[in-house]
Amino acid sequence: MIKKVLKFGGTSVGTIERIQHVANIIKGEVEAGNKIIAVVSAMAGKTNELFNFSKNIDDNFDKRELDVLLSSGEQVTCALLAGALLKLKIKAKSWLNWQIPILTEGEHNNARIINMNVEKINKFLNDGVAIIPGFQGISSEGDITTIGRGGSDATAVAFAKLFDAKTCEIYTDVDGVYSSDPNKIPVAKKIKNISYDEMLELSSLGAKVMQPSAVQTAMMYNVPIEVKSTFTNREGTKIFDQQNIDYSKSVTGVAYSKDDAKITLMGVEDKPGVAANIFEPLNKAQINVDMVIQNISSNQKTTDITFTIKRDDLEKTQDILKKNKNIEYKEITYNDKVAKVSIVGAGMVSTPGVTYKMFRGLADDKINILAISTSEIKLSVIINEENTLKAVKKLHTIFELE
Ligand code: ADP
Ligand code: ASP
Ligand code: MG
Repeated sequence: MIKKVLKFGGTSVGTIERIQHVANIIKGEVEAGNKIIAVVSAMAGKTNELFNFSKNIDDNFDKRELDVLLSSGEQVTCALLAGALLKLKIKAKSWLNWQIPILTEGEHNNARIINMNVEKINKFLNDGVAIIPGFQGISSEGDITTIGRGGSDATAVAFAKLFDAKTCEIYTDVDGVYSSDPNKIPVAKKIKNISYDEMLELSSLGAKVMQPSAVQTAMMYNVPIEVKSTFTNREGTKIFDQQNIDYSKSVTGVAYSKDDAKITLMGVEDKPGVAANIFEPLNKAQINVDMVIQNISSNQKTTDITFTIKRDDLEKTQDILKKNKNIEYKEITYNDKVAKVSIVGAGMVSTPGVTYKMFRGLADDKINILAISTSEIKLSVIINEENTLKAVKKLHTIFELE
């Protein structure tokens, strides 16, 4: 008897028929003798709809009440799935965050699961299926919390860890992790096995098939994950701690996101302390600066500083820069029509020339690079947003990912 956590995302439970289909998948697992914890998301589009309701009342809707509102989506799917299983004569029961309880810490809308009471669910698993709502928890004060968008993945991994499950299967609307989003890049190829590090980079850089914090927890506790389709029987992608990475390929995948904005301060005085004066107030306001580039101007007395931030922080950043009396510059430009395109691969460490190959390829297609950042297993560039898909396709060709 194997204990498994199966997580079903929004599209997988998007209609009543699909919920019935999911119930049949679970029935198959039970009949194969497995103990099942099913973690479910809200029906596709539901969380966005609820979020928009809150925005219609107040752009700055109270965070505590937002969690009460958003968590309701998962409650609906839990009950429907439990009902569908009971109809199939499979013993099943749903539990909400406070009934288990799923304890979280941290701020509303972005909490972290820290513990839960495993005993009563473990007992029930002996002859029944436990249905758990993803994305939600409860604080030490007894308030309902949510753990960030896409958070049902993190719930699934936390349950797999705390219940010592053999696997954590992420059922979704694609049949695995691809070299890039298969819905946007048709030449993208399915990856059979991927290391936690590579998956963490890909998801942090825009591959939304797995939520980054879920991958991080899985990596920390060595929880093996399989990403697979709810709608086909094809083999999915295994995410695990790869001891023997295949270094024959330098690049495993290409991720992209359109979440960033670029800011350039031109004609900044070139003397010690200037960068600190620019970035200190941003840091205080918890604005995360990603890439930074400094060019020395021809007269050597001034410099231009370019940096990127999250697009959502642009207005706040503009405001802080305008009010900053400790910096002087000739001109400031903002560009929120940029994209970040990144290549990721554990094999990059041992393959020379990857950087050059990427830059040459983009240049050949007349794609201008506006900023660059690197780490051991990833290389990201900022480019104009309109070139995103062209760049991702080109990188597939260059690194033989098609
Ligand atoms: P769920 O609702 O099941 O959690 P998500 O929408 O969060 O599903 O994630 C699945 C989606 O992730 C796919 O439909 C696909 O468009 C997108 N995606 C982005 N990058 C990748 C990638 N590299 N591989 C697979 N899917 C990806
Ligand atoms: N329903 C939540 C969301 O849409 C959590 C999830 O689906 O993972 O973000
Ligand atoms: Mg998701």
